[in-house]
Amino acid sequence: MAPGKTANRKPRTAVLAIGSHPDDIEYGCGGTLRRYVNMGCDVHALILTCGEQGGAAEVRRKEQSASAKILGLTKVHWGAFEDTRMPFYERVIPAIEKTVKEVCPHTVFVHHGKDTHQDHRHVSTCTVVAARNVPNVLFFEGPTTYGFEPSVFVDIRDSIKEKFRSLSCHRSQVMKTNVELQSILDIARATAVFRGTQCRMSYAEAFCSLRMFLLQPAERTPGGRLRPARGRHGSG
Ligand SMILES: [Zn+2]
Repeated sequence: MAPGKTANRKPRTAVLAIGSHPDDIEYGCGGTLRRYVNMGCDVHALILTCGEQGGAAEVRRKEQSASAKILGLTKVHWGAFEDTRMPFYERVIPAIEKTVKEVCPHTVFVHHGKDTHQDHRHVSTCTVVAARNVPNVLFFEGPTTYGFEPSVFVDIRDSIKEKFRSLSCHRSQVMKTNVELQSILDIARATAVFRGTQCRMSYAEAFCSLRMFLLQPAERTPGGRLRPARGRHGSG
């Protein structure tokens, strides 16, 4: 491109949510994703395993597809990793990078790094590297998260129904909470009310920020804009 000229680039309006298993992103950021969809953004999901330790892989893939329709997601991308046995770094970072390059998101949502589930921890850590050039990277919580002190909140009053409906699509998982008498819907509602109370809303989702721009970086500032991930793997 000639100096001084600006490209007529399409604004980056894509969002990518990354989860280890089917139903992770719905719990952590389903209401927020639906709000992005309502705003006209392309919202993608990357699910690294089929969650086959919690149910038949094919069933869980179908449940995830049904959930994605409720949320209005553009596409569900799948990793090919084994549930509960995800490798650390070597293959996971390139797999996440591949989707980040394809989607070119302005915001990535992923598990919080403090989590008792090893898959969640690994995916969080690998995403920090793979999304190193994405402007906004936010960590969501789940039932197995600990040490989570959010400072970013999203009002999900207008999308709470879709969040719960999308969670309900994961029928094989709804009662597999390891908490007596509590379904994942019960726990998700309690969390949404608690986080809402913290920000004076009736329902909210909460996030910790690795990196977040209050105003999006200028797309056309020479040398000043953040570009999609590229280059060598693992060069965080
Ligand atoms: Zn999970």
